[in-house]
Amino acid sequence: MRLSRSIVGQKEADAVANVICNDGYLGMGSATRQFEADLAAYLNVEPWQVVSCNSGTASLHLAVLAAMAQAETSGKLARLEGKPVILVPTLTFVASFQAILQAGCVPIACDVLLETGTLDLADAKIRMTDNVIAVMHVDYASNPWHLDQVYEFGKENGIAVIDDAAHAFGCKHHGRKIGSFGELVCFSFDGIKNITCGEGGALIAFNREAATIAADARLLGVEGDTAKRFAGGRSWEPDVKRAGLRYHLSNIMAAIGSVQLGRLETEFVPARRKLYDLYVELLKPVPNLALLQTDSKDFIVPHILPVRILNGYKEKVKAALEAADIPCGMHYKPNHLLTLFGNGKPVLPNAERLYYELVTLPLHPGLSVDDVKQVCRVIARTLA
Ligand SMILES: *Cc1c(COP(=O)(O)O)cnc(C)c1O
Repeated sequence: MRLSRSIVGQKEADAVANVICNDGYLGMGSATRQFEADLAAYLNVEPWQVVSCNSGTASLHLAVLAAMAQAETSGKLARLEGKPVILVPTLTFVASFQAILQAGCVPIACDVLLETGTLDLADAKIRMTDNVIAVMHVDYASNPWHLDQVYEFGKENGIAVIDDAAHAFGCKHHGRKIGSFGELVCFSFDGIKNITCGEGGALIAFNREAATIAADARLLGVEGDTAKRFAGGRSWEPDVKRAGLRYHLSNIMAAIGSVQLGRLETEFVPARRKLYDLYVELLKPVPNLALLQTDSKDFIVPHILPVRILNGYKEKVKAALEAADIPCGMHYKPNHLLTLFGNGKPVLPNAERLYYELVTLPLHPGLSVDDVKQVCRVIARTLA
């Protein structure tokens, strides 16, 4: 049994073979343009809003650069004393923090809600200062939860909202697809996410200036290079006005992504929901265990399954799983406990308690019903 894995096969292999044998160009070209168009159609947004890139981390970095550019345009950046700050929940992949740092901002870790692991807005409000230019929300374990309130908070304070939706591709919030609304929404298509490109990501931008800045920034800041590459050309007499990176998505990765997107609603969504529902059914009655709350289960496409092991039994459960050859994980060691991002300061009690309680159980469409039953049996026996 595996904790997570890529669900890929002949169709993805054929798509890659087609790029290699028939296209004649492996870089960013027609397959990348097609993948962006496919994402736009799926999310019901315009193609200019989709900025594909080579990782979810890159999409976050591009989003922060776009938020900085907006703060520059509004004059806010010029008025700051010290570096721009971005509020971010501490319970996230280190990618969220590193992307903020790489863009020249300071990530300020915020606490999370015990019931969901998502941003605790009350804690974010306490950490609000004049230097804050954006708040990052993380749809932890595919759960948007208070996302609408975070957008309100952003509007009230005149700051950008970045949605790290790496866990939430295919999910909905109050009936609307994640990536179909908002400001700067970031997806990851790394090897184990709800769909994969092998490695890849996309920023969905809801403002033309932000989309243009991000699209140029992924191609070393070369102005308008996206349109040239999509037409099979290059910019031989470019202008560059802003910093940029080598973040574009290759035809090979994009071709995998388009196949995966076509499999999402028919295969991956029902498979993930079925296994998740079975977990919930079998684990709900287990003592000393709490499932995280989520948005309506018909709206989420569960990417990972972290559960809370209460009353100090986490190590016992981990040992029992290991003895049964069942892998488990930890999403995540809170970032404020890492040397670079606070080394334990400030104290964020809910996140630290979740760090003490959370165990991530295997979840991916390659698991069988019997696999899930076995995992639940081991846990129930240990906690009974
Ligand atoms: C996967 C992930 C990322 C980074 O995506 P990559 O494609 O791996 O760079 C960022 N944030 C969260 C919450 C993630 O799970």
